[in-house]
Amino acid sequence: MCGIVGIRDAGGVSFSIYYALYALQHRGQESAGIATFDGARLHKHKAQGLVAEVFDSTTLESLKGDVGIGHVRYPTTGENRPENYQPFNFVFRDNIISLAHNGNLVNDRTLRDEFECGGQIFCTNTDTELIAKVITDEMRDSGCIEDAVHRCMRVLKGSYSVVMMINGVLYGFRDPLGIKPMCIGKTENGYILASESVAVDALGGKFLRDILPGELVCIDEHGIKSMQIARANRRAHCIFEYIYFARADAVLDGALVYDVRTRIGEKLHEEAPVKADSVCTVPDSGTAYAIGYSHGSGIPFVESLLKNRYMGRTFIMSTQKERERAVRIKLNPIREHLKDKSVVLVDDSIVRGTTSRRIIGTMRDAGAREIHMRIGSPPIKAPCYLGVDMPTREELIASNREEEEVRRRITATSLHHISLEALIDATGMDSECLCTGCITGRYPIPINGEEFIPAKIDFLDGTYQTKLEKFGDGSE
Ligand code: 5GP
Ligand code: MG
Repeated sequence: MCGIVGIRDAGGVSFSIYYALYALQHRGQESAGIATFDGARLHKHKAQGLVAEVFDSTTLESLKGDVGIGHVRYPTTGENRPENYQPFNFVFRDNIISLAHNGNLVNDRTLRDEFECGGQIFCTNTDTELIAKVITDEMRDSGCIEDAVHRCMRVLKGSYSVVMMINGVLYGFRDPLGIKPMCIGKTENGYILASESVAVDALGGKFLRDILPGELVCIDEHGIKSMQIARANRRAHCIFEYIYFARADAVLDGALVYDVRTRIGEKLHEEAPVKADSVCTVPDSGTAYAIGYSHGSGIPFVESLLKNRYMGRTFIMSTQKERERAVRIKLNPIREHLKDKSVVLVDDSIVRGTTSRRIIGTMRDAGAREIHMRIGSPPIKAPCYLGVDMPTREELIASNREEEEVRRRITATSLHHISLEALIDATGMDSECLCTGCITGRYPIPINGEEFIPAKIDFLDGTYQTKLEKFGDGSE
């Protein structure tokens, strides 16, 4: 997962992109980057670290221009090396191009081999550079960006939401199944494309709509143009965005994440009621779920684990030992709320089981009598090939264990995961709209022999239905 943003607005965009990236920081903490175009030249800065560490006002002032794109990186493909940071910037036949990508391609190896057999070189080991190659390959022949994006949608297999800037024209497109989110907002004098609506909110902008799966939007001095390049018979929005990844205040493909999570909390109570003194969240990811469980059951919501706000997400630590230590620093139990109490402990997901086991241990040390764990996702059983960093089955505690065995390992008094039906129901979508690969092991695109649900994708050849959208003054 990564966060991407593209802005075209009068009076300079670097500060706006900075704040938008700040709002998307949860989507990636490894590196951050911005590229802007001033009408003649590209200005760029990217480095390892958090948005606030990478940029200061001097740097932002040097990023001149009324159009630009930005990226926060959460590594999926490609190591943590400076050349892998985004945006990816280059010149092709006098076109100044900058590109940033959220998602993960599953046919990157094959594509790379094809290009290398043709004598092409690569400067990074990201799949973003592959997207750039596919685009320039097509531009070389037709010079047409619509054709180039069309080509992408035919040959790229996997998830991709992309923002791209070519000579100051801003483009955004989303894979035909809409796996990764991206939306459009109206800013004071222009437009913003962003992974989540929270970036639009951060700028005081107006959320307009999601980019459609298979859609290309183009923002230039005339406004927004939209072209439907591919149309699929189903969607595959990532369920993990709703479960964990997106911010609770984001609206993704029509659903407010906070509401989805509280509904799941209520359903957790319906599926697995229990008598207890309090409902406790594992902050922050479990909070909306815990509030839902509390509403549904009438058991008071009491914070009994306090989070150190200055700690990053613990998954980012690369070794198990580091992660275990991080959990201790990150969450501190409130003894007075736990002593001799029976507690419903609510979290969004169990992935490796490390955090959950640790937390339950510290709560027991603090005197809790019973800890009934309720989880807002079904057991995560299979790896994600489409952008979430949970690569191997061996690391997933639930991949080959029954719930009772997981309960024993994390030492909970009882354990219940939400059912898949209730989860889907809580999103307000039907199962044909979601990718549930990490739960079901069935993916929306073919991945080296894994079980998959075929989708039919129609490409709107040659003549693109161009729709000029006049959001103009933002009064709609
Ligand atoms: P576990 O018990 O599996 O070690 O950790 C569960 C916790 O990990 C949950 O609180 C959940 O919010 C969090 N989590 C789930 N997926 C991710 C992820 O991709 N990145 C990070 N940083 N945390 C995650
Ligand atoms: Mg969490």
